[in-house]
Amino acid sequence: MVPQFIVEVARIEAEKSYMKYKLGAVVFDKKFNILGVGHNRWFRQSEKMCGLKIEGNVPRLSIHAEIDAINHVRRDKRYLMFGIYVYRKNNRLAMPCKKCQKWIQKNGINNIEWSE
Ligand SMILES: [Zn+2]
Repeated sequence: MVPQFIVEVARIEAEKSYMKYKLGAVVFDKKFNILGVGHNRWFRQSEKMCGLKIEGNVPRLSIHAEIDAINHVRRDKRYLMFGIYVYRKNNRLAMPCKKCQKWIQKNGINNIEWSE
């Protein structure tokens, strides 16, 4: 179980999302020091992405909160990444999708928790 302040930071981060489903994520080290935070949003070029949405003929890419949070961890701090917590507004189910789960594990994060 992550400490309550991690949940709170993820909740505040989720509030920043302008997507229909508002999610926030927090990456932390073994001592629960926060290394990076993020929320789901449309993505800018050159960022790593997860999720694809087609609107009309124009493909639009969205970045999931988990990926956004990992991207915000400083490069020299990445080796410290230990866990991630994902929160969906109103404490709804925020289980990471398959793509995100793979990416999280590829980054050496083995502790994954989410609101449900
Ligand atoms: Zn995802």
